[in-house]
Amino acid sequence: MSSDDTYKIFVIKYATTNMKRETFFVPPFFPAGEIQFDYYISVIANEKRVILVDTGFREETGGRRGRTLLRCPVESLSLCGFDARQVDDVILTHLHYDHAGNMGCFDSARFHIQQREIEFVTSSMMSSANPNLGGSVESSDVHALVDLIFAGRVNILHGSTELVPGIELHLVGGHTPGQQLVRVKTARGWVILANDTCHYEKNVIDRHPVCAFVDLREMMEGFDKIMHLADGDMSRIIPGHDPIVMQRFPSPDKSLKDIVVRVDLPPVGN
Ligand SMILES: [Zn+2]
Repeated sequence: MSSDDTYKIFVIKYATTNMKRETFFVPPFFPAGEIQFDYYISVIANEKRVILVDTGFREETGGRRGRTLLRCPVESLSLCGFDARQVDDVILTHLHYDHAGNMGCFDSARFHIQQREIEFVTSSMMSSANPNLGGSVESSDVHALVDLIFAGRVNILHGSTELVPGIELHLVGGHTPGQQLVRVKTARGWVILANDTCHYEKNVIDRHPVCAFVDLREMMEGFDKIMHLADGDMSRIIPGHDPIVMQRFPSPDKSLKDIVVRVDLPPVGN
């Protein structure tokens, strides 16, 4: 394996909230109550390129929705030694508000998103405030995406693909129609940025779906796909909102504990 096609992966925690447990684990299997729900963006980088996975929510959007913004996702790139102008590519895993704000902050980036997701966020489903439908999408983010399409800066994908050697995008669906995950080659082998194909690791371990989906069958099949892509090794699966990510992997610096972790490195915690 040449070092050219392996990558470092930084996961940055930019926001947090408490959610109702039953939203993420269908009752009656788990007791009702609150569960910590963290918000991440990820930076995949080597000497040749810097790729951002999702852009986080905008301060106004998160505030309106009662989320606690800990740090601006765009500015927090500096914690890993990057800035927005260096980002060559932005992978949008899906268009929910917490993954797709701030698109206008990345002037030189090319965006990668599934055609199915674009169709969804411009469909009649957006007229519904249901959180599985229009309720989790910001029309301003859709406008920003359309502007980028007009500017010729969006690579619209029709299924799974290799973005560049060592970085694969896998269309999963389920949570949203165009939900995709990212598989990255690192020095320790493949790592799966599962994103919202798997909010908490327990979802995939127990094959226990979250309540937020448009297609339950695709979500369940997605769990099998994640396990297959990770070779059944949970240390290779990075769930989308699970606080365990910050506990399990090493921070680049002591001052960044519970803020940034390197998931291309082997786990240090449980
Ligand atoms: Zn999410």
